[in-house]
Formats: sequence, C-alpha cells, structure tokens
Amino acid sequence: MVFLAASLIAIQQRPTTPETLTSAPKTSAARLTNRKANLMGKVFVVMYHHIREGSNAMFRSPSAFRKDLENLYKMGFRPVTITEYVNNKMDIPPGASPVVMTFDDAHPNQFYFLKDGTIDPKCAVGIWLDFAKTHPDFPVKGTFYTLPVMWGQHKLIPKKIEMLRSWGSEIGNHTWNHKFLSKLSDDQVKMEIAKQNDNLVSYGIPPNMPFCPPYGEYPKNKALVKSFVYKGKTYRHSSACMAWDSPAASPNDTKHFSKYKFERLHGNGRPMGIDYWLDKVKKGVVQVYVAP
Ligand SMILES: [Zn+2]
Repeated sequence: MVFLAASLIAIQQRPTTPETLTSAPKTSAARLTNRKANLMGKVFVVMYHHIREGSNAMFRSPSAFRKDLENLYKMGFRPVTITEYVNNKMDIPPGASPVVMTFDDAHPNQFYFLKDGTIDPKCAVGIWLDFAKTHPDFPVKGTFYTLPVMWGQHKLIPKKIEMLRSWGSEIGNHTWNHKFLSKLSDDQVKMEIAKQNDNLVSYGIPPNMPFCPPYGEYPKNKALVKSFVYKGKTYRHSSACMAWDSPAASPNDTKHFSKYKFERLHGNGRPMGIDYWLDKVKKGVVQVYVAP
C-alpha cells in the first residue's frame, strides 16, 4: 500500500470530453486531448488472460473487453508494444497517452479461427480487429506472452504469428511449462526460458524477445530474466515484467523504471483493475504519460 499511496499523486487534469477536444487553442497543433505533455507520467500496461465469461480475475468477457477498448480510446489512449515502451519509442499522437495491451498464456480465446476460416468474433483478436475497423488509430498492436500451446490450432500457429506481426503486435516468451520460477534451480529456470525461446525463434521471432515470468514470480537468480548461457548457447531477453496491480513508471523516470521489472495492472473490473485505474485518471488522481 505504500507503493500505491506514492503513486496516487494529485494533479491538475481534466477528463477528455468532446468539449475539451474542440476547445484547444486554434493556434496550437491539433492535440488528441487537452492533457498537458507529461513525459514522466505513469504508463498503463494492461494484463489479460482469458477473454471469455468467467468469475475470477483471469477472465474478461468479450463485451467487457470491447468496452475496455472503447474506454481507452475515448480517454485518448493509443496502443504501443512492450518493446516500444521499454525503449522509450512510443509513437503516439500529440496529447495521447500510451497503453500496452498484454496477453498471457496464449489461450485459444485470445486468437481463434472458426471452421469457416474466419477469425472468431468473440476472441480477443476478433473483437479488437472489429474495433480497429472503425478506429484505425487503435490497431491490433499488443504484446502476446506465449506458452507452447500458442492459442491451440497447431497448424495455424505460423499464420497467426504472421498476422499478429503484420498488425504491429509482438510475441514474447512466457516459458515452456508455466512454473513458479522462484521454486526451481538455476538450471531448471534456464531450461524453462530457453525452450520456449527456441520454439519462438523456430517461428521466425527475433531471439531477443520480451519475457514475462509466470505469475510474475522472478527466479531466485533474478539476472536470468535478462540473459544466461544454456547448453553453450547465449539467450537474451529485451525486457521482463511483473504481474502487479498498478500503472508502470514512465521510461523517462530513471529513479523507478526498470526494463527488467515493471508493473502491469489487471484487465478486469476488480479493485486495482483497469476500470479502477481509468477512474483514477478521470478524476485527475493519477498522472499518466502524455505525448508532447
Ligand atoms: Zn501466465
């Protein structure tokens, strides 16, 4: 709670409304919102698991997921990937705030093809694609932390990867067996990470990919999330993230930001989930990153 208290910094900020969008001074370049530039503000890194009906924290219903996209869009958020965030290369319009949409575990309900060859309109990608049709500046651009199941439908894995990457999304490593890395030996940790890295590389994913430890549990030897040598081969990952419940530090906030340990918040309606934090932004309690 100390962390939470520290992150709730009161600021002068008005919610984005159609009125505020049109009331910007005509002399300045068009801005997406009237929020002042803030390169030190918090970044929303949202964590999703199942996109289907369900009662615990791991589920977001298709309609609630669609609502998340709508809410984020209306509030001036635009999608970036984990890699763009950690490298501080977030290409979003003036006045916009970044959001990183992340999907863990590669569940079939994240990306699924129906028998007729179309994308299931109720899976995460199907919902997002439909939204992007009418909101082309909110494309299917997120980070998918995968397990070997790779959304099921084994034969379609290469096609799904190619489609995701063509839209601007990226694929990350979420280990081979989804174990608590903190309970394993260094050698077991290396095997868990290396095996899925090799698997993804076999599908054409660049080896220096983002990594996400299962349950947000770091191995005892934390340096392993960054790089190690296993069976004579060097493995490197470009970032690592936690499963947490608050917005993450700006990549400019050198005091708090770490490429290998940053927070994510749950994409659900529970306390400390996305609805909770968007409400804090609306009320001006949380200061988010805003592009100049
Ligand atoms: Zn997981």
